[in-house]
Amino acid sequence: MFELVPHPYIYCASYDNNSWEEEYIEKKHCRSIEEEEKLPPEERDALRKERNSLARLPFVNYTNQYGLGCFEGLKAFPRKDGNLWLFRPEENARRMERSMRGLLFPVMPADRLEKAILETVRLNRDISYTPSYSSAWENDNFGSAHSVYIRPFTYAESGIGVNVSLNPYLLIVCTTVGSYFRGNEKNAVVTSKRIRATPGGTGSYKATANYTISILAKHEATSAGYMEAIFLDSKEGRFIEEGSSANFFCLLRDQTLVTPALTDTILPGITRQSLLTLARDLGYKTEERDIDLEEVFEEGEECFLSGTASGVTFIGSLTHEGKEKVFGKGKEGPLAKELQRRLKGIQYGILDDPYGWMRPVPSS
Ligand code: PLP
Repeated sequence: MFELVPHPYIYCASYDNNSWEEEYIEKKHCRSIEEEEKLPPEERDALRKERNSLARLPFVNYTNQYGLGCFEGLKAFPRKDGNLWLFRPEENARRMERSMRGLLFPVMPADRLEKAILETVRLNRDISYTPSYSSAWENDNFGSAHSVYIRPFTYAESGIGVNVSLNPYLLIVCTTVGSYFRGNEKNAVVTSKRIRATPGGTGSYKATANYTISILAKHEATSAGYMEAIFLDSKEGRFIEEGSSANFFCLLRDQTLVTPALTDTILPGITRQSLLTLARDLGYKTEERDIDLEEVFEEGEECFLSGTASGVTFIGSLTHEGKEKVFGKGKEGPLAKELQRRLKGIQYGILDDPYGWMRPVPSS
């Protein structure tokens, strides 16, 4: 479940006089996350509320007034060896650097952000704010597994005019999470009439402002009983773009795996990139290009979503303007299952990592 339980160590960097000043802040905590769970609910909630506040951050600023901000989302996975391993953190750090540049923030170099991410996770691990590996997770292909979700994000300085941010903060928080899509075993998705991103806009950055439309579309989809909303292109409303927080894949009848090409309206997912590699190594032909809804309805054999939060999540059916297409009798298809098995196996360390994707949290 995606519930926010901030871990006690927070990273806070602020940009001043052309450089980043950084600090690891230790908030109040118990001896371990298990001990914290046992606190009386009111005491526990008060503790967590206090951890989700930082007095130095300005109350009125360009981020909360205008949505000027960007962020990242990546995970650290508990393993049998007791340590946590991160999945491709250098890619998230690079994407953050690109988003910051795109939104005209002063940039934090990717290698520095990657170090800060690893250090924040290390500090929290060392005070036992870390889920432990459970072999039971292997029974459902890690669908019920826990991990540490890491959220780096910008936060603008004090200000009320419509301006770029010259002296932002960059923060990192960690929280333990379970599975993301839940309670809709049919995995039905529906196209949204809303437009997530337009050419020339900010759709390919992980920009805070992009998520307003995603939240509205997802809320409308889930209120109507669907698992997720699927966005179409802004010009013709004909080509599939992506989900509210995940990329889209379709395996065609001729066994070609297609996903939308990385234009300026698509978020370049790190899971997406990794699944393309895994699928090619499984012998599938892959194509990054426009995907017409009609093609999916006529030729689609299996569809799935990919993302840090969702892993590989199969799509049971796709509804567009009241017309429904069911894939593989509404059950998870063999390719989605195999990709999830390989991806999670690498992430949780029960399969080899021939790609060198995983990074252990350093020892103390
Ligand atoms: N698309 C959107 C809009 C997202 O928010 C995300 C999540 O980060 C993704 C795709 C998947 O990206 P990744 O695989 O890097 O998590």
